[in-house]
Amino acid sequence: MAEDFPESACAYARALAAKSKRFARQISAAPEKRAPADGYPEDPFGELSGKTGCPALRQRFPDRVLVRVSNRCFMNCRHCTRRALLGKSETADTEERLAGCVKYVLAHPRVRDVLISGGDALALPDARLMRIVDAFAALPQIDIVRVCTRALSANPARVTASLAGKLSRSKKVWVNTQFNCADEVTPEARAAAARLVDRGIPVSCQTVLLKGVNDSPAEMLRLLRALSAARIRPYYVFMCDPVAGVGRFRVPLERARRIERICAESIGGLSMPRFVADIPGAKRKQPI
Ligand code: SF4
Repeated sequence: MAEDFPESACAYARALAAKSKRFARQISAAPEKRAPADGYPEDPFGELSGKTGCPALRQRFPDRVLVRVSNRCFMNCRHCTRRALLGKSETADTEERLAGCVKYVLAHPRVRDVLISGGDALALPDARLMRIVDAFAALPQIDIVRVCTRALSANPARVTASLAGKLSRSKKVWVNTQFNCADEVTPEARAAAARLVDRGIPVSCQTVLLKGVNDSPAEMLRLLRALSAARIRPYYVFMCDPVAGVGRFRVPLERARRIERICAESIGGLSMPRFVADIPGAKRKQPI
C-alpha cells in the first residue's frame, strides 16, 4: 500500500518534518508497512467512476463542481482521501479537456462555484493554472473559483507575490488550504497567507482530524488560534475519510465531539470551524 502511494515531500516539507513530529506523522509511510489492511475502500466517493462525461470533472452537489487539474502534490499526505487516485485519474491537462469542463459548467447553470483541485492546484506552473482559473472566472454564472492547495503549509514559497497578483485579477478566487497542526503555521506560512490576503483573496483552512496530530482540545485550539492570527479562516475540521490506508489516523466520534465542544467553549465563532464528516452519498457535509 505504501508502495502504491510512495513517501514524497518537497525540501521545505522535509525540513519541517525534521522539526515537528506532528507534521512528520503526515508524511511518514513507515507505519503502513507494519499495519494490517484496514478494510476501507480505495475510492469511497466514486471519483474515478463519476458520470459527468468529463473525466476530470466531478459533481456531487448541485451548485458546485470539482475539476482535477493536477496529479501532483508538494507532499504525499498519508491521510489523503485521493491517495489511490493520484497519478491514475484524468486531469484537465489539455485545452480540449478544459474546454469539455467549461462546456459542462455552461450546460449546468445552477453551478456557481468551481473547485480547482488535484492533487495540488499550485503544482501547476502559473501560466497553466491561470489559464484554468480565468476560463471559469470568465463565466457570468460563476461567483467563486476555489483554488485548493496545500502549498501554504507544505511549500509556502510557491505562493509568490506575482501569483497572488494574478489570482486576485478576477476578484472571484478564494484559496482553500490545509493545515493540521500549529507547527505548520510557520513564519513562511504566515507570509504566504499575507501575500494572498493583502491582495483581497480570502484564505480558508480545511483541517483533517488526525490521531497523533491534532486529536486533543489543546492541540486543536493551538492550531485554530495560530490560523486566526495568520488571517486564515478555520472553515472545516473533517473526520478522516473512510479510505484504504488511513485507518491509523481515524479518531473515535466521541473523542471528536469532545474536542469540538471544548473548542466551541473556548474561542469565538470567527475562529471556530465546523466539525463535519463527508459521507458517501450524503447531500451535505454532516455535522458530527
Ligand atoms: S495535498 Fe491534498 S491531495 Fe495532495 S496528498 Fe495531501 S491531502 Fe492529498
